[in-house]
Amino acid sequence: MTARGTTRRDVVKSAAALTASAAFFPRPAIAQNPPRVVVVGGGFAGATVARALKKLDPRIAVTLVEVNRTFTACPFSNGVIAGLRDLSAQQFSYEKVAGDGIVFTVGTANVVDSAARSLIVGDGVRLQYDRLVLAPGIDIRWDALPGYDLAAAEHMPHAWKAGEQTLLLRRQLEAMEDGGLVVISAPANPFRCPPGPYERASLIAHYLKTKKPRSKLIILDAKDAFSKQKLFQNAWKELYPDLLEWVSLSSGGKVTAVEPATNSIITDFARHEAKVANVIPPQKAGRIAELAGVADRSGWCPIDPTTFESKLVPNIHVVGDATIAGGMPKSAFTANAQAKVCAAALVRLIRGETPDEPKLINTCYSLVAPDYGIHVAGVYRPVNGVLTDVEGSGGVSAIDAPPATRAMEANFADGWFKTITNEVFG
Ligand SMILES: Cc1cc2nc3c(=O)[nH]c(=O)nc-3n(C[C@H](O)[C@H](O)[C@H](O)COP(=O)(O)OP(=O)(O)OC[C@H]3O[C@@H](n4cnc5c(N)ncnc54)[C@H](O)[C@@H]3O)c2cc1C
Repeated sequence: MTARGTTRRDVVKSAAALTASAAFFPRPAIAQNPPRVVVVGGGFAGATVARALKKLDPRIAVTLVEVNRTFTACPFSNGVIAGLRDLSAQQFSYEKVAGDGIVFTVGTANVVDSAARSLIVGDGVRLQYDRLVLAPGIDIRWDALPGYDLAAAEHMPHAWKAGEQTLLLRRQLEAMEDGGLVVISAPANPFRCPPGPYERASLIAHYLKTKKPRSKLIILDAKDAFSKQKLFQNAWKELYPDLLEWVSLSSGGKVTAVEPATNSIITDFARHEAKVANVIPPQKAGRIAELAGVADRSGWCPIDPTTFESKLVPNIHVVGDATIAGGMPKSAFTANAQAKVCAAALVRLIRGETPDEPKLINTCYSLVAPDYGIHVAGVYRPVNGVLTDVEGSGGVSAIDAPPATRAMEANFADGWFKTITNEVFG
């Protein structure tokens, strides 16, 4: 395991080890000078790119830069909030990733110098790259919702990055008396995990129904439509008829401000004083994307859909939630799929070859109750530079499926999470 705080000496040592190991590979030109790929962000996208690169071409010197020593996964974190699982079930170490011959560097990438092809990590360690991959996930737009700042998030958690925030929201629900009002504010598109707010509302409703049945849950939404809407709404009618209310944009659901002192969420038409307020605010690509110059004015990163190379800065690739990926939603499944395509393209580009045009798949499961799962799936390919739905592919769960099918899908969801986390971190 090479996880640790980085010093200049460590980086030099790692580089020496990699040069030595490169001597075992026959191609002389590259063996003398192994191509260097640095990946920033060890989440679903970044850890996948790093491992896929090493698998496809072990001669490539791969460095993975990640802020945390342990990764905490968002998928299934709504189950933690609803008391159905522990946070530890979401947490994964980088031991196996580092064991693959990847140099794992703990630290924050702060500066990218694209002209010099270098970046600075933590207290000033400089890493040189031939190609850089940025996979930083999302950051919260702290300036987008009046009243919502870092201090406000300590009272009104977003829980949109899993970890302490997830536990805070869970504790607040546990501490609430029966009969309390829970309010979730859902943002406009685009944001991480389009079905996520509605899965969260469902599982919190399940918790309230079983533990605090006199309580009420309101979703205030900045949209009129959302992912798997009919499936969610049918299930809510069946499972949580008097407990859960969804207020759409056109019914006045858009949140215009929050007031942490009174735990209030404010729209143009009403003020909701919540016992528990879960504010899911507007988002943007992780900060390093902006610092590297690969994010546009939308806050997200335009990419070439075949190579995931930035359309703004050459030799920098972006994968996962940070991208503008046409029809592809921001999901862990998507991040993993994009990462594999990006790694394959990088190997080709490094060899001076032309990357193949990809087809990418996404499937997102959601739980409406512990034994009630639904899904949406899609297939995408580049059309005129944009990842576009392949006609006739994909779809959602059947609207009239029997309970046995819903239970089976809940099981599939569980299987998917185990499989993807095992592939990325196991
Ligand atoms: C409640 C919830 C439920 C979800 N459920 C699902 C689901 O069921 N299925 C699904 O497919 N998706 C789901 N998602 C979405 C999924 O979590 C994201 O789409 C996925 O994590 C994106 O992967 P990523 O690698 O782009 O970002 P992340 O997984 O967030 O990884 C980014 C990593 O980069 C690191 N990082 C950032 N900046 C730096 C820097 N400057 N230096 C070093 N390291 C840095 C971070 O620490 C982090 O580890 C859910 C999300 C939420 C919030």
